[in-house]
Amino acid sequence: MKNIINNVAIVGGTHGNELAGVYLVNYWRDDEPQFIARSSFTTETLLANTKAIELNKRYFDSDLNRQFSAESLADMSLSNYEQSRAKVINQQLGPKGNPKSDLIIDLHNTTSNMGPSLLIPQQGEFYDLLAIYMHKVMPEAVVMLDEDHIANDKHHLLSTIAKRGVIVEVGPVPQGVLKHEVNEQMAKMTGIILDFVEMYNSDTLPQLPSSTDAYRYLESLTLPVNDQGQRMGMVHKNIEGNDFKAIKSGDPIFALFDGTEINYQGKDIVYPCFINEAAYYDSNLAMSLCEKVVIKHPQV
Ligand SMILES: [Zn+2]
Repeated sequence: MKNIINNVAIVGGTHGNELAGVYLVNYWRDDEPQFIARSSFTTETLLANTKAIELNKRYFDSDLNRQFSAESLADMSLSNYEQSRAKVINQQLGPKGNPKSDLIIDLHNTTSNMGPSLLIPQQGEFYDLLAIYMHKVMPEAVVMLDEDHIANDKHHLLSTIAKRGVIVEVGPVPQGVLKHEVNEQMAKMTGIILDFVEMYNSDTLPQLPSSTDAYRYLESLTLPVNDQGQRMGMVHKNIEGNDFKAIKSGDPIFALFDGTEINYQGKDIVYPCFINEAAYYDSNLAMSLCEKVVIKHPQV
């Protein structure tokens, strides 16, 4: 028997300078609760990293969205601001492994040109149906399977402390900036997820296509650095802004400051995303690479 979703938590501000989720959560909570209310489940809202939101920074001590593996949550020596906050949120919406929340929708922005993207970090029939439904009603949406092969207790994302979890990731928008279209896309995608859950609960989903396309994360590429760890170049202009556009072997991906280029070497076509994401400069990450996959309707 399938599990009905009785309660949903919508989370904004897991990263304090990703403003669409912060403002939408505030607005829905205070001014338009009917937008997120449905008859078959309750909806609660949470602003996750309140201190970072106040400071308009991604985080205060460390990235909150990296603190939710079962191991980190159990480790009381991890006690900086975000590590402590993760444990509080885990009590409120989790606890991971035996959670109160049936679904978390975590709202994020990216500086990359990813459009409205639905990130799915777990596998299962619910997610397959959601992905197919999302493309039916919002064809411009991208579905990305984000390390969905990792056991849930090892995942460090906030969205993985509930029974189910997804991330709504919308860009491009600079950190700490509001953009009308980005807010609209985030609200639309969130509303569609809630509509889907309502129909999923009551077995009233419409006829859906037998499959849909998605991108599955493969690996991250770092910016080229020299022996001293200093950057030697940047993302190539042909790649910049072209999230989810194919890269073939031999295509230039990095432009070095000396004028030379580094080409992609790989036998398969790959699809980049999080290209030149500002938040990843700390770790010199240049982009993620994905493969294209097909999600099949579980009942066809
Ligand atoms: Zn984020």
